[in-house]
Amino acid sequence: MKVTLLGTGGTIPTLRRNLPAIALQRDGDIFLFDCGEGTQVQFLKASLSPGKLFAICLTHLHGDHVTGLPGLLMTIMQQSRERSLFIFGPPGIREFITLFKKSLGFNPSYFLDVREISEGRFYSGPNFFMEAVAVDHKPRTLAYCLQEAPRPGRFHPEKAKELGVPEGPLFGRLQRGETLTLESEKVITPSMVMGSPRKGRKFVYVTDTRPCPQVVAFADDADLLIHEGMFISEMENEAHLKGHSTVGQAAQIAKDARVRKFVITHISSRYRRTDELRKEAHNIFPGAIVGKDLMEILIPLHK
Ligand SMILES: [Zn+2]
Ligand SMILES: [Zn+2]
Repeated sequence: MKVTLLGTGGTIPTLRRNLPAIALQRDGDIFLFDCGEGTQVQFLKASLSPGKLFAICLTHLHGDHVTGLPGLLMTIMQQSRERSLFIFGPPGIREFITLFKKSLGFNPSYFLDVREISEGRFYSGPNFFMEAVAVDHKPRTLAYCLQEAPRPGRFHPEKAKELGVPEGPLFGRLQRGETLTLESEKVITPSMVMGSPRKGRKFVYVTDTRPCPQVVAFADDADLLIHEGMFISEMENEAHLKGHSTVGQAAQIAKDARVRKFVITHISSRYRRTDELRKEAHNIFPGAIVGKDLMEILIPLHK
């Protein structure tokens, strides 16, 4: 999995920070989280093809998170897309999309599968699923998780041979989870020749929100948590009033959730330099990354 930060600003764009959008590449598909104004230009800068989009997950209906959608969907039509495109988001997104389609006379050649979702698991793929949880922001806002299924453990051919399994197709059957009975009537189960299952990867995206306890459980043990941190601690009151988190509050969530990597996004346009944000985050979560537009983050497979 590779994550590209397409937009790391919040509320208004700056020359350095575009509005919120995060692209996650997995198995040839792109999952886009939020679609701030100018997202399609960020696709070009990141050398990503919008044609590979599988789903767009919108956190909420604030302009900075959704106004890139009409342009992106129109560009996709120019690429003669045929397969359908999922758009997930809280109630209200269907009306938003219907209205701009109508007023712009936009009739996509592909099927837009718009689904207004609530909390819990909302999509299951062949070896992954996606979940949402409501967070503390107005209007209704969802945080997202993409969780992969565990992978089978490592196969040990030498153990199989020792147990009398001849090299060949029987190896593959064991790796696919089948129990074998050999000609000698000896029973060989996969667990006799394979290591324990390997954890699937977990990606979590949380913005906009005040710090909220349900996110700690939601992001538990994530490989990557991207969480908003719009202000530094001295602006905690303002952050609270506007429904946002400080960098320190976000870092505490990352620490409590025991995530492996933590990236801060939705950064206020008031911060040209990020030293202070980094320092505040590192006091709580050493290794915290202050997001930058077009930054790429790899999430390796668990060994
Ligand atoms: Zn925002
Ligand atoms: Zn917002």
